[in-house]
Amino acid sequence: MTQHRAWTEVNLDHLLHNVQVIHSLIPSKTKIMAVVKADAYGHGIEQVTQSLYQAGVTSFAVATLEEAIEVRGLLASVEILILGKTSVQEVHQLAKHRLIQTVFSVEYTQALALVAKASGVEAQVHIKVDTGMNRLGFAHHQINEIKEVFTYKQLRVRGIYSHLSVADSLLPEDVSFTELQLNRFNQCLDKLKGYPYGHTHVQNSGGIINHPHLPYDYVRPGIMLFGIPSGEVREVGLKPVIELKATIAMVKMIKAHECIGYGRSSSFPSPKRIATVTIGYADGYPRNLSGQSAPVLVNGQVATQVGNICMDQLMIDVTNIDGVIEGDQVILIGTSQKHTINMGTIAKKSATITNELACRLSARAPRVYR
Ligand code: PLP
Repeated sequence: MTQHRAWTEVNLDHLLHNVQVIHSLIPSKTKIMAVVKADAYGHGIEQVTQSLYQAGVTSFAVATLEEAIEVRGLLASVEILILGKTSVQEVHQLAKHRLIQTVFSVEYTQALALVAKASGVEAQVHIKVDTGMNRLGFAHHQINEIKEVFTYKQLRVRGIYSHLSVADSLLPEDVSFTELQLNRFNQCLDKLKGYPYGHTHVQNSGGIINHPHLPYDYVRPGIMLFGIPSGEVREVGLKPVIELKATIAMVKMIKAHECIGYGRSSSFPSPKRIATVTIGYADGYPRNLSGQSAPVLVNGQVATQVGNICMDQLMIDVTNIDGVIEGDQVILIGTSQKHTINMGTIAKKSATITNELACRLSARAPRVYR
C-alpha cells in the first residue's frame, strides 16, 4: 500500500451499520432517501452510493444538477432528487437523466414549466413547502399556489416535502418549533387531499434521531449516514465512517522558552520534544484549532497540538510519549487503542459542525477505502 502523507480512511462497513441503525429507528414502511450531496459529505460519492445501493437504498438526494448527473452515471435505475435550484434552461438535462427537480416558488415553477413546454419535455418535480426554515419553499399557507403546480401539463408531481430547522436540538422551545413545523406540513397535506402529491418526506438526521416515528414515506438522512450527527441528539449507536490520519516527519528537542512555528505563538518554560506532522489546513484540518491544545493520537496515546497550524504541517508535543519516531502514524480524527477523537469534538473546538468539517476534508488528502 502506498504510504500517503495525509489521508482519510473510509470504513464502508460503518456506513452500512448506520443504514441498519436508521432502519431500526423508523417505521418499517418508511424508505431511506440518502442525501449524498457535496461528494457524499466528503466521503466519496462513487463508493458511498454504490455501497448504499447494495444495501438496498434506491432513493438519493443531492444539491445540484451536476451531482445528480454524476449519481445517474453510477446508478441507472435509482430515484434522484435535486434539493436546490437548477437553472430552468437545463430542463432537457433533467428529462434526459430522469432527475426529479424541487419546485419551491410560483415564479420558479412557471418558468420551469414554460421552458419544458418550449423544449417539448416533461419534468418530474417534488414540491418544497416552507414550514418555518425560511430558506426555499412555498409558504405552508400558499395552498392555492401549491395547487397550481398540479395544473402544468409539463410537470409531473412525484412528491412533497419540507425541511426542519431545529430538529437536532432537544431544548423544549426547539422541540415545540419542530412540532409547529410538522403541524404546518400536515395541515398543508390535509388541504391538498385529492391532489396526487406522491411521496412525503420531512426528516433530516436530527429529525430521524429525535423524532423517529413520523408517518412519512421517506426520511432524508445525510450526516447520520456517516456516523457523525451534529447538534444535540440522542445516542443511537452510529459508527463514524471516516478517520483522518498522517505521519510524523521529524522529532526534535527544543529548549525552554524557544518558540514554535509561524507567529512564534507557542513556547514552554521547560524543554520539550516536538514532532512535526505531515498534515495542515490545506488538507482540511482547521487552522483555527491553533493554540487550543487539540488532541491527536500517537502510538495509542494522546498528544496535543502546539503552535500555529501551517498549510501542510503541524507540530505536536510528544514529550510525555515514549519512543515516538519519524514515520509513526498520527490519528487526528479516529480511534487508537483505548482513545477516540471524535469529529464532533474537533468540530466544536473549531467552532463549526461535523457537516462542514467532513466536506472540507480530503481537499488534498486522498481517501483510502476499507
Ligand atoms: N434535506 C435537506 C433539504 C437538506 O438540505 C439536508 C442537508 O443539509 C438534508 C436533508 C440532510 O441533512 P442532515 O445532514 O442533517 O441529515
